Amino acid sequence: MRLFTFRWASDLNEAMAAAPGASFLAGGTNLVDLMKIEVLNPERVLDISRLPLRDIEVSDDRLQIGALASNTAVAEHPEVRRRAPGLSEALLSGASPQLRNAATMGGNLLQRTRCAYYRDLATRCNKREPRSGCDAMEGWTRMHAILGTSDQCIAAHPSDLCVALYALEATVRVRGPSGERELAVSDLHLLPGDRPELEFNLLPAELITSVRVPLGDLAARSRYVKVRDRQSYAFALTSCAAAVVVEGGMIRAARFALGGVGTKPWRVPQAEVWMQGRPPSRETFAHAAEMALEGARPRRDNAFKVELAKRTAVRALMLSTGARS
Ligand code: SF4
Repeated sequence: MRLFTFRWASDLNEAMAAAPGASFLAGGTNLVDLMKIEVLNPERVLDISRLPLRDIEVSDDRLQIGALASNTAVAEHPEVRRRAPGLSEALLSGASPQLRNAATMGGNLLQRTRCAYYRDLATRCNKREPRSGCDAMEGWTRMHAILGTSDQCIAAHPSDLCVALYALEATVRVRGPSGERELAVSDLHLLPGDRPELEFNLLPAELITSVRVPLGDLAARSRYVKVRDRQSYAFALTSCAAAVVVEGGMIRAARFALGGVGTKPWRVPQAEVWMQGRPPSRETFAHAAEMALEGARPRRDNAFKVELAKRTAVRALMLSTGARS
């Protein structure tokens, strides 16, 4: 690990004043890892873990979660479990209890790719070193993306939480030197395109302060399904957060997002609209899943993800309707 300067911020104004040019440190479950292996080498680290951003507030129609609330605190909050169970399930499916105790909402939203080549300084990686090449392209691609890829990067987005937040149409509030703004969580993450080193739609020194999740029928029906190589402490091969509201035997509204397959959590609103007014059957969900996977570009080791993602989506959508499988 290289030398860096370190300081704590005790309030938001102090954090904003010290933010330009610094890397924010919250739970440390991602940044510190990457600093140890010298993939990230910030000259200045600003510890924001003492900022008052841990509250979880629940109103009739909205959940507001401070950016420093831990994954455990959110996952185990009784109102989150009751009114947005898919969010709780997504969080509990990620990492280990120890990591969930330390990891924060803001850090989870901004976690870096888990592409093995990104973490290996002996390989070429456009995300780590722009325009250097990508050794994943002809390498081991079992864990890589099949949607939203480019000729420069095929890294899958690693977060479970974000998949649920996309399906629930959450928003994030950010604060920066020029004030506050709110953006859809689906606008926070960038597709790799020609610039895979640019991962987030944030301005310099902007800090996520909270996440807002709409509550209602959809959130209350939400479920999360994750398929992985081992039962715990593994990233998704495929996952799906789904929410379906049925009225009079027909689908009134539906949302779903896929994880493990895209360079960002993958949501296809046309597939959700297509389901409206149709019966909540396996056939309906299979067709919607088919629509969501259109344009998939699998590579040598991950062609299986196309079918697995469809089945994962069908299972999550079925579970949301109350079916057992
Ligand atoms: Fe880097 Fe992306 Fe290629 Fe992985 S897939 S080596 S993150 S450029």
